[in-house]
Amino acid sequence: SEKTLDMIVNLCKNRGYVFPGSEIYGGLANSWDYGPLGVEFKNNVKKAWLKKFVQESPYNVGLDAAIIMNPQTWVTTGHVSSFSDPLLDCRACKARHRADKLIGEEHPEVNVDAMSFDEMDAFIAEHEDIVCPVCGKHDFTPIRKFNLMFKTAIGVTEDSSSTCYLRPETAQGIFVNFANIQRTTRRKLPFGVCQVGKAFRNEITPGNFTFRTREFEQMECEFFCKPGTDLEWFAYWKDYCENWLLSLGIKKEHLRLRDHEPAELAFYSRATTDIEYAFPFTDWGELWGIADRTNYDLTRHQEASGKSLEYFDSETNEHYIPYVIEPSLGCDRVALAFLCEAYDEEHLTDSKGKEDIRTVLHLHPALAPYKCAVLPLSKKLGEKAMEIRNELSKYFMVDYDDTGSIGKRYRREDEIGTPYCITVDFDTVGDEAKGIAADNCVTVRDRDTMEQVRMPISELKAYIESKIEF
Ligand code: ATP
Repeated sequence: SEKTLDMIVNLCKNRGYVFPGSEIYGGLANSWDYGPLGVEFKNNVKKAWLKKFVQESPYNVGLDAAIIMNPQTWVTTGHVSSFSDPLLDCRACKARHRADKLIGEEHPEVNVDAMSFDEMDAFIAEHEDIVCPVCGKHDFTPIRKFNLMFKTAIGVTEDSSSTCYLRPETAQGIFVNFANIQRTTRRKLPFGVCQVGKAFRNEITPGNFTFRTREFEQMECEFFCKPGTDLEWFAYWKDYCENWLLSLGIKKEHLRLRDHEPAELAFYSRATTDIEYAFPFTDWGELWGIADRTNYDLTRHQEASGKSLEYFDSETNEHYIPYVIEPSLGCDRVALAFLCEAYDEEHLTDSKGKEDIRTVLHLHPALAPYKCAVLPLSKKLGEKAMEIRNELSKYFMVDYDDTGSIGKRYRREDEIGTPYCITVDFDTVGDEAKGIAADNCVTVRDRDTMEQVRMPISELKAYIESKIEF
């Protein structure tokens, strides 16, 4: 059957992946809380990213910079003056839209990024074919400016000198630490700095579950290289990013690499490619923006701070500001893509010919919240089952369930994506009174194939570890 976002949202709410934020107070629009399963899952997404981008990369190191930065940072980057959305309302139906999106969709030939708000207003007025996507009318208010940064204040009294912002992207924490990192790690170019962290944007059109929210996590890498080598590294990271997605189970046909046309490119960027995913609620949605940002960011920070951000190349005896390749990925957004990819409703027929639907999350085992579940066939087997659970939980997350029929328990684990179910039965423990020896074996059921194998308890840890490798 066709999967819809609703199916995924329902599973998330019902099984403890994601809850509506502050639900008992009626919620807060577009805020979401990751529940017991969601937090494990999302941590696994971050771990998988850090493993490939920091641990296994010969080039990259990590960083965890502050969310609240010196406000001058955002003056330098232009976020204070221009990180704003051009908003307008439809007079007929009151729907709110972004002017740049309305123009871009009807007139992809024009470079909306280069237009002032006045120019956008004039363009829309002149083009009757630009209509409200909700009601189809061409009757808009003028554009209003809307700053996307969340403003807050440092100090207990509200005075303007203490205005500061929640960062709208993690990248700037990396740029302002460029010299610190280069000096302390004594890295030569090329090298990259990676960071996972929260970012905040007062988005006008949040929605589609966790696809676009006002508070979200980014996983960003700023990769510094010698000018002139940037396009080579741009190609390298595009490939690396795509492979990361494929190796975690995203199907190639659900991915698209979309190169920005010259008109769409930010003025400082030499090349930008978005990796897009075929979400069930839209044709293609951006997952990962990969941009050659030239030396723009470091140059601006050098000018504004007065601190040298040049690199001394000891091979050529030159001083220069490195070029930057930025692969920027939304953690929540890619987590949603993994859920969409994994979700499946299988139509099965049981041994009595009865039709049944099996809901299953085919998550890569490295991403699954629980790596296995221990299920005693009878509550009488609880002691042995708990002993197995306690031992395995030293190495990875293990679920334990002793309620309901074994079939129902399998289905519950399928639905939350647990790759292996370990069933403890009477043969496992034997029966001393009847002189039946324990076989010390358990049955291991595979989520995807539903096949079962019997194996010694002593082999479980190595077996599961080999399956969850990433
Ligand atoms: P969009 O065009 O979707 O608004 P963007 O081009 O503004 O995205 P970037 O600034 O390049 O996005 O941010 C990098 C990544 O961060 C995006 O590719 C996306 O995965 C993620 N991201 C950006 N905004 C949000 C948001 N509001 N909610 C969740 N994830 C986001």
